[in-house]
Amino acid sequence: MTEAHKRLDEAIRPERTTQILGELTRFQSVNPNGTESAVAAYVAKVMRDAGCEVELQVVEPGRPNVIARLKGTGGGRTIILNTHMDVVPAGEGWSSDPFTMVQKGDRVYGRGVMDAKGPLAAMMAAVEAIAASGIELPGDIVLAAVVDEEAASLGARSLPADLRADLAVVGEATNGNLAIAHRGSIRPVLVAEGVSAHSSTPHLGVNAVSLMARTLVALEDFAEQQLTERLHPLTGQSTLSVTIIQGGIKESMIPDRCEALIDRRLIPGEEEAAALREIEQIIAGLPALDGRVQIDRLIPTTGVASETRPDHPMVELASAAIERVYGRKPELTGLTANCDMTHFVKRGIPSVIYGPGDFSVAHKVDEWVALSELENATRVYSSIAVEVAGSFR
Ligand SMILES: [Zn+2]
Repeated sequence: MTEAHKRLDEAIRPERTTQILGELTRFQSVNPNGTESAVAAYVAKVMRDAGCEVELQVVEPGRPNVIARLKGTGGGRTIILNTHMDVVPAGEGWSSDPFTMVQKGDRVYGRGVMDAKGPLAAMMAAVEAIAASGIELPGDIVLAAVVDEEAASLGARSLPADLRADLAVVGEATNGNLAIAHRGSIRPVLVAEGVSAHSSTPHLGVNAVSLMARTLVALEDFAEQQLTERLHPLTGQSTLSVTIIQGGIKESMIPDRCEALIDRRLIPGEEEAAALREIEQIIAGLPALDGRVQIDRLIPTTGVASETRPDHPMVELASAAIERVYGRKPELTGLTANCDMTHFVKRGIPSVIYGPGDFSVAHKVDEWVALSELENATRVYSSIAVEVAGSFR
């Protein structure tokens, strides 16, 4: 072990990560209703106290990103540690108050303790430990805590254009492994326009629900026959599902309007425009619809899919850090879900995903993370940061 890693190991106090996580859990930064400002103020204060230059970047009224920079001595590589401050709603059926972190054995419970306040707490504690260790680094360590990842990723999309780095580590649960790819999504809303009539004389109208039904059958056939063939080795296949449908207002009226929301999951390499064109072509290929079904609008999502080459030197650096902490080589994996990595890849920044916990408990009641994983994550983030920022460009 190098001298820097030894000093770092001594500076890390695992209980500090847990303490920060307890504070973060208290802020009800539930999305929708974007109320990340209280979390942002807390993150900004802790990072300023640690010696960072802190900028609050207001993305929407009351919704600031926090960009905290631990400045190096100059000429070194830069790392971005990124994760999000918003959480999904608590939902019903919790065993305890979702916004008060509760410890039972080796686990803590609460909304967001894993997605993504766990990684946020570990990143904050990692930056604090590096600052406290007194290790001199030529490069900068940037903590970018963003708003709105759980909806439209307004935060990651709006980060300053001049924010550059040699590596971005995105904090989402990876179960002790390293993810280098993730799926993306687009959500077109289809509208069928029919003609209303009394339902005792249906031939006088055009039934919008029936038009939509034909459309959905065709789209599901396409998903089954063609999307199942599109496979990515790390993220799995492309998919298409209808997730919301609305039509009809009265039991005795032929409905003149029907709306259906399509959730189309993209794999790395698939582009938004091409995926939309495919849906348009399927609809256009159904003469029975008589031009009455169209894509009306797009519901914003986190973004499209992205990936980093498995043999990229930064992937090797991050793998080595995980191996140092866990004592075994991480698997290179992909997330089936969306995440903010896509917005860093778009800027040309090599990016990886690593975070404490198992993604399968995200967005559920009684969300939990293991204390041992919070400690591992604190050590992994600080180790990667020191490796990146410790070298000259
Ligand atoms: Zn998340």
